[in-house]
Amino acid sequence: MPELTDMQYIRTLAKRHNFSFSKGLGQNFLIDPEVCPAIAEYGIPSRECGVLEIGTGFGVLTQQLALKSECVTAVELDRRLQPVLAETLAGFDHVHVVWQDIMKVDLPGFLQEHFGGRDVAVCANLPYYITSPILMHLLESDAKFRCITVMVQKEAAERLCAEIGSRKAGAVTAAVQLRGSAEQLFEVPRDSFYPAPKVDSAVIRITPYETPLCTPEQLHRVLRIVRAGFAQRRKTAANALASGLGLTREQVTDALTACGQDVNVRFEQLGRETLLQLAEQL
Ligand code: SAM
Repeated sequence: MPELTDMQYIRTLAKRHNFSFSKGLGQNFLIDPEVCPAIAEYGIPSRECGVLEIGTGFGVLTQQLALKSECVTAVELDRRLQPVLAETLAGFDHVHVVWQDIMKVDLPGFLQEHFGGRDVAVCANLPYYITSPILMHLLESDAKFRCITVMVQKEAAERLCAEIGSRKAGAVTAAVQLRGSAEQLFEVPRDSFYPAPKVDSAVIRITPYETPLCTPEQLHRVLRIVRAGFAQRRKTAANALASGLGLTREQVTDALTACGQDVNVRFEQLGRETLLQLAEQL
């Protein structure tokens, strides 16, 4: 198996394939030999569980996922990586790479096509420019995942694992906690990547609740509210939701009162249960 954490090998590989790292695509590849095995260990519950990887890069994490799961499908946007992966993933016949933008993938159909009825876990070192949209895409879809284990910027990890109703929380925090529980597993310093980014990172795991808190339809409704509310988080919830959802202020204050909230409450102060109640009222 090619040593994808060996800097000399990485440089030779990049040179041989005339590959230049794209900042725009968030191409900071892992070079710490301990990190990818740890992600695979935390992220894959069993050999039978399929793995969806987002963003292969040169395949350093893909290789480790392939050692732990009998069925790995990765989605990668940058087709320049095709000849590189042909080399680094040679012999891994149970790994399949789909050349697509993950944001354009219809996830339930994709899981059916590539994994049949298998359980599927997501494992990825996410491109940082698009971390929140990708997580929203995963959480908002009707696709069911065993767990989602991803590397994100350290600040993003803190936000994702924050309590809803706290200052650090954002729309994606709410999306995470409406679907499951989030935990930070370990931190990864910036020099674990090549090229090194300007910030440190952390690996988090989201485990969906066994019994969902709400139906997919309710979730879509709550997330519309959450997006509108966090878009103007410093305003009162009444003003933010009225302008964001195109409602009258009175409609929103009536709903807030019915949920036992003060009409001057700020959106960022609302907890998870209130958000669920509010989605029923509005
Ligand atoms: N997994 C590799 C590693 O850990 O070294 C690469 C991780 S790198 C941070 C992110 C990868 O995501 C890059 O290979 C990049 O080309 C890919 N990528 C960026 N945007 C993408 C998108 N919208 N859909 C799929 N892959 C994307």
